[in-house]
Amino acid sequence: MTVSHDLFVRAKKVIPGGVNSPVRACLGVGAEPLFIESAFGSKMRSVDGRQYIDYVMSWGPMLLGHAHPEVIEAACAAAARGSSFGAPCEAEVVLAEMVCEAVPGIEMARMVSSGTEAAMSALRLARAATGRNRIVKFEGCYHGHADAFLASAGSGVATLSIPGTPGVPEDTVRHTLLAPFNDLAAVGNLFEVYEKDIAAVFVEPVAGNIGLVPPAEGFLQGLRDLCTKHGALLVFDEVITGFRMAYGGAQSVFGVVPDLTCLGKIIGGGFPVGAYGGRRSLMENIAPEGGVYQAGTLSGNPVAMAAGIATLKLLAKADYAGLAARTERLARELARILEAKGAPVVCNVMASAFTLFFAPAPVTDYETAKAADSARYASYYRSMREAGVMLAPSGFECAFTSFAHTEEDYAATVEAARAARL
Ligand SMILES: *Cc1c(COP(=O)(O)O)cnc(C)c1O
Repeated sequence: MTVSHDLFVRAKKVIPGGVNSPVRACLGVGAEPLFIESAFGSKMRSVDGRQYIDYVMSWGPMLLGHAHPEVIEAACAAAARGSSFGAPCEAEVVLAEMVCEAVPGIEMARMVSSGTEAAMSALRLARAATGRNRIVKFEGCYHGHADAFLASAGSGVATLSIPGTPGVPEDTVRHTLLAPFNDLAAVGNLFEVYEKDIAAVFVEPVAGNIGLVPPAEGFLQGLRDLCTKHGALLVFDEVITGFRMAYGGAQSVFGVVPDLTCLGKIIGGGFPVGAYGGRRSLMENIAPEGGVYQAGTLSGNPVAMAAGIATLKLLAKADYAGLAARTERLARELARILEAKGAPVVCNVMASAFTLFFAPAPVTDYETAKAADSARYASYYRSMREAGVMLAPSGFECAFTSFAHTEEDYAATVEAARAARL
């Protein structure tokens, strides 16, 4: 067998499922995970020496490509000066200044170490600032694995959520209200019923965890208006979209400014960084300036800050429009090829992310995404991987491109799709 297989067997003995994050196990696509030895630019090399054109890109962070020389140089130089101080360093200030300048809704930011931490901290702040308990989230949207966000995506507008995982008490998600993505009327109804008890509406401005689903015309502005009217905070979870949709995030593209913003993935350039930020008057509630406690031993870690700064410096002058055009061309070409094989394909594409759903009708929310044929995606995934193209091991994820992907990569990807078995 392969080196990768042997490692997986060893891993399963000492790590639950053999992986440190569940989707990596590739269970949904009937494959084993590939252990990776190294990654440069648009490509990853497995421990068995095979090379893959990568469209997972670490689930989003690697917008500049893997191991970008300037990012790696900055991180190595920082590590050589000490990898953690437990005291402030200049790089934290620089990265926070860059984030405040880039993102319209952020006047002050707090660095954390993951998107999960960003979202759970923003939730605590929203509850503290409003003195309310309930939150609205959208079915299928992901905000990390904090208890309050793990409410099941029940059918229709559930008024009382049930936990989506064992280990989360019903009492914890009792305050989590669900609405279908893109359904403004459902959110309006929740505000009618729970008017004075909704602290915040959490939303991915472009949904990315049910596959890519753009917001309908007016959806985000409608949420903004509802929140303003009812005294709730609008929280954009831009962990995927921040610095990827555009340098200023989805909020700069759609012209809707949230009260709080969560960042992650790209902001660390492949190192563990998250951040949450917003209006100064809100952020001043965070300890030690205010009473809302939130802390982290490795928060603002100098190595991760250096990588984040190097990444944002490069992204600030990057040609986002060019990458979006190349990505759209690739996505539409792949959709055409797969459709010619007799599969219905819905192509959702925006900026440097896309999802091809093997679905019969437009995908606008979780319900319509779930109509996609998972078995067909699994077989597409396995064919593409065999041909050297690495897609996400789930049909409900985005394919991510990067500034490192070349026309040759795209041509090879199209070739692989031509030969794919569905
Ligand atoms: C990935 C993701 C998170 C969680 O980030 P982690 O760094 O994995 O904890 C939160 N929100 C969104 C929208 C994400 O895509």
